[in-house]
Amino acid sequence: MNNQKLFIWLLAAAVPVIALLPLPDFWIAQLNYIGLYALVCLGLVLLTGVGGLTSFGQAAFVGVGAYTTAWLTLNTGMSPWLTLFVGLGLTAISAIVVGAITLRMSGHYLPLATIAWGLSLYYLMGNLDALGKYDGLLGLKSLSIGGIDIGQGRLFFVLTWTLLIAGAIALLNLLDSRPGRAIRSLKGGSQMAEAMGISTFRYKVTIFLIAALFASVAGWLLAHFQRTVNPSAFGLKMGIEYLFMAVIGGVGYVWGAIVGAGLIKLLDDYLQVALPALIGTSGSYEVIVFGVAMVLVLKYLPEGIWSLVARKLPRPPRKMDWQDAEPLSTRTKPALGELVLRIDKIRKQFGGLTAVNDISFDLHAGKIVGLIGPNGAGKSTTFNLITGALSKTSGQVNYRGQDITSLPSREISRLGMARTFQHVKMIPDMTVLENVALGAYTRGESGVISSMLRTNTAEEQRFMREAQHQLERIGMGNYLHELAGNLSMGPQRLMEIARALCCDPALLLLDEPAAGLRHKEKRELAQVLRQLQGEGMSILLVEHDMDLVMEVCDHLVVMEFGTLLTQGSPAEIQASPAVRAAYLGTEH
Ligand code: ADP
Ligand code: MG
Repeated sequence: MNNQKLFIWLLAAAVPVIALLPLPDFWIAQLNYIGLYALVCLGLVLLTGVGGLTSFGQAAFVGVGAYTTAWLTLNTGMSPWLTLFVGLGLTAISAIVVGAITLRMSGHYLPLATIAWGLSLYYLMGNLDALGKYDGLLGLKSLSIGGIDIGQGRLFFVLTWTLLIAGAIALLNLLDSRPGRAIRSLKGGSQMAEAMGISTFRYKVTIFLIAALFASVAGWLLAHFQRTVNPSAFGLKMGIEYLFMAVIGGVGYVWGAIVGAGLIKLLDDYLQVALPALIGTSGSYEVIVFGVAMVLVLKYLPEGIWSLVARKLPRPPRKMDWQDAEPLSTRTKPALGELVLRIDKIRKQFGGLTAVNDISFDLHAGKIVGLIGPNGAGKSTTFNLITGALSKTSGQVNYRGQDITSLPSREISRLGMARTFQHVKMIPDMTVLENVALGAYTRGESGVISSMLRTNTAEEQRFMREAQHQLERIGMGNYLHELAGNLSMGPQRLMEIARALCCDPALLLLDEPAAGLRHKEKRELAQVLRQLQGEGMSILLVEHDMDLVMEVCDHLVVMEFGTLLTQGSPAEIQASPAVRAAYLGTEH
């Protein structure tokens, strides 16, 4: 079992014990705050730590949950258990709207947009008469179940921490699943994820939504815990503080949320007393201390405090329980010799530079076609045009009888065209097996909810079986549980090929698979390519190693300065004076 999860179960066992211990009420109240804050931070772990999207606006979503239950219970007498779901609904709507507008933008727009969202909601809450303006709403009831008052003490502690633990387990389950792998691929940029058939935009909205829902539940709890709501708890300052907590605790870890929330809450209380005594006047000096602490943590411990613990923990290998799983279904492959790919005058201009200048060639099933040419000739750009990673200035691509010219790369990958990258793109903190399983994304369908609830195990086993099979197929059976980031270049490139094979491709595009490989590894790669060809695979290969190219390719296409110089059999190309002049002569 995953270590983080083991610790969560230990925590779950500790909750009833803590509730029964004769702790002073003050400490129970502290723990209640910590549980509430940690729930918000849990969302930030998913959104910021895993997904790489920074939000300063989580406090606003806490506010939506809190104000919804406050207003409805006070004005309509609705049961707080029902208002929880109304709050979640309103939160979902606002998160989807804010997300849909901002998540297509790149870089700093999202953090800025979340600041704007946090501020505007704060002023809205503070200016609406119905919401009591800056005084807020007072006199809420505490929660009760079946006539038993949950109050603000031990029972509330059990409720809050049970929700927190359930959220943590759901999150850990999610991260270790088909949608989870997709979410973990977001941070590395969209190109690889989209090439695996993943809609990165959809997943960004999804994690923004999940994080907002966690915050909303915390708001609902907070309202009935404090029995009053007012805007100050949901403003930008609090939004920043939630991010502080998550980052200082370790925003990449579920446990970072809990540790960070605990630390900041305790420190906050301590500093509010200690600092005025030290300085002699009162004021929010603790904010300055937090700012300094944040800078120091980011500089010296960028992965937060929990990373110190996580590094020390052993990583138990995954239980291999998938040997009897059903194989994933496969697509029908083209018959040998059938036309698989027809490139017709594709062209790409970057401003004044014509990187790919009306290139045309065909590829037939079972053949290996080599695309060669000096650096900067436009080979990778041609790959990106074929696979849909870049839009074409003009020209057409036909794949297995279908015009795919204007399809995005995730649609093309669904049709069975898989690729690797000139610069390896992987998820370094995931195992080789999981990285490869990402390639099978389009061959499954389990979603976020089934993954959180762990009802996806049958499909997960099928993924893992497939990933293991593809790794063994290319001689990487010994690396299954290695972290991908620890691999040297050769195995990394092979891992990318295994990942591409996991998509059950009819056409494989390999961009410089031998770059950075040692001689022995190159021999093994040649072996793998010939074996794949023997199994009927069609391959388009960009490669600089001429021995490898001449050995494995059936046909060569030579590019220079974006233009097609010539094409023919390896023997013809070797004999061509033009090619020698342009390319081979400079290389050898
Ligand atoms: P190759 O893979 O054959 O080495 P590339 O396809 O990577 O060549 O590059 C072809 C040309 O296009 C180069 O001059 C490169 O600088 C240019 N180029 C590639 N990508 C871009 C881009 N995104 N924007 C502008 N120019 C680019
Ligand atoms: Mg290239």
